[in-house]
Amino acid sequence: MAARADRRCEYCRAPEHIFNYAFEVEHIQPRAAGGNDALDNLALSCASCNSHKATTTSALDEETRQMTALFHPRQGRWSEHFRYDSETGLVQGITPAGRVTVTRLRLNSDFQLRARHHWIQLKIYP
Ligand SMILES: [Zn+2]
Repeated sequence: MAARADRRCEYCRAPEHIFNYAFEVEHIQPRAAGGNDALDNLALSCASCNSHKATTTSALDEETRQMTALFHPRQGRWSEHFRYDSETGLVQGITPAGRVTVTRLRLNSDFQLRARHHWIQLKIYP
């Protein structure tokens, strides 16, 4: 599970090895919405992404004005949906799914950005 994810949060790419706890196993499709415990429905997630995602699977994309499914780590590659700027540390969604995931999971919150700047300096991000 963690090895499949390269020991990184599958949403924000936070490196698990710098934390003093194991990342959480997140249900992409929540159990409350019929999701199961199959490996195809599980993703490694940091506490920040998991708590902000909660039971959400879609959100309004401000650009298309459409309800859009969040990034699905088992159905798409991170690099197809996101870019990150090594100067600012900002993660940008480059698809509708990427954009709603950045917003909903607060991938550019102050906490995320402060931590990401350290990871960039340590050359352990993305
Ligand atoms: Zn994360």
